[in-house]
Amino acid sequence: MRKITLIIVHCSANKAGSKLRMADIDRYHRTLGWTGCGYHYVIPIDGTIEPARPEDLPGAHCRSHNSHSIGICYIGGLAADGRTPEDTRTKAQKSALRHLLESLHKSYPKALIVGHSDLDPKKPHCPGFDVVSEYRDLQPPI
Ligand SMILES: [Zn+2]
Repeated sequence: MRKITLIIVHCSANKAGSKLRMADIDRYHRTLGWTGCGYHYVIPIDGTIEPARPEDLPGAHCRSHNSHSIGICYIGGLAADGRTPEDTRTKAQKSALRHLLESLHKSYPKALIVGHSDLDPKKPHCPGFDVVSEYRDLQPPI
């Protein structure tokens, strides 16, 4: 079993309303020569929690942190212009993300729940909202 110290939330950097799903990310990541979707879970706009890479395998989503983290990606993150970073989570996505994080927090109670931008200064707009404070109630005790 891997030691999980981080649960990392991402956005896919698609514009609001994008219909992309896990299978599309999986196809894209394979074109990069990866073994498939780099995240462990993908949440499309309808709020389905789509499992991708098994949790016991390292993901490919956050430089230097893949070996000890779980990666979640919600579809969206850009305004309708396709450029401006924005928290585009639908109601269904917000509720699915909370549900998934509650469940992962039970499996990995010592893991910090963070945004990609908290770990990589080159990704300041991923996922486009303050993950640490939104899920403060699910953070491990300090
Ligand atoms: Zn990211």
